[in-house]
Amino acid sequence: FLIAEAIELLDLENALRHALARGELELAYKPKHDPKTRRLCGAEALLRWTLPQKGRVSPAVFIPIAEEIGIIVPIGEWVIREVCEQLRRWADEGLPTVRVAVNLSPIQFRQPDLSERVLRLLGETGIDPRLLEFEITEGAAMENIHTTIATLKLFNALDFHLSIDDFGTGHSSLSYLKQFPIDTLKIDQSFVRHIHASVKDEAIIKSIITLAHSLGFDVVAEGVETQEQFDYLSALDCDVVQG
Ligand code: MG
Ligand code: MG
Repeated sequence: FLIAEAIELLDLENALRHALARGELELAYKPKHDPKTRRLCGAEALLRWTLPQKGRVSPAVFIPIAEEIGIIVPIGEWVIREVCEQLRRWADEGLPTVRVAVNLSPIQFRQPDLSERVLRLLGETGIDPRLLEFEITEGAAMENIHTTIATLKLFNALDFHLSIDDFGTGHSSLSYLKQFPIDTLKIDQSFVRHIHASVKDEAIIKSIITLAHSLGFDVVAEGVETQEQFDYLSALDCDVVQG
């Protein structure tokens, strides 16, 4: 059984090395809405990988593999390029442009030349940096704290929108959080899912919203699936909801 699993993992690794060149990767755009106006106010770009024979592979499976075999940086750069080109196409078609969020892997976030690469892509596509948002997970932000703060400061100065993802799950340090020049906290979907069934999750969500607003951040609630959750989060003054 273990051998079969190991072989399958090797197969996946090999396939993943060619996924970019074979055009098997694509982006899906998950919309974000302002619960007050119900208007579309942004989107998050999510990476999808479909293997011709096997079908869809979960990002929870292939992203860690891509990090381990050292190809997350080129894949991540492809994602940013795709997003810039998509924003360009929407603008060219006269569609209203909304900000698009890109998830940065911790490895990508630590690349010293990341900002230069992104700026080059923006220059090539003529996209306003304010239309790009970067999400880094709370866990990734809290490791290597001084590098994190320096990079966030640089990105903030370049006018990118910055979010801490999966907030509430990754050993947050509030003394560091207050130093982060970020715009948004994204409440992890695990809290949102049981908002009506769990008094504790409800208390956590209320506290995060209050904390975020006091620190001058917006709040996005992720994993919103029912009208009940939507209305409730709106009543709590949550700024943005996402499915
Ligand atoms: Mg995200
Ligand atoms: Mg998230």
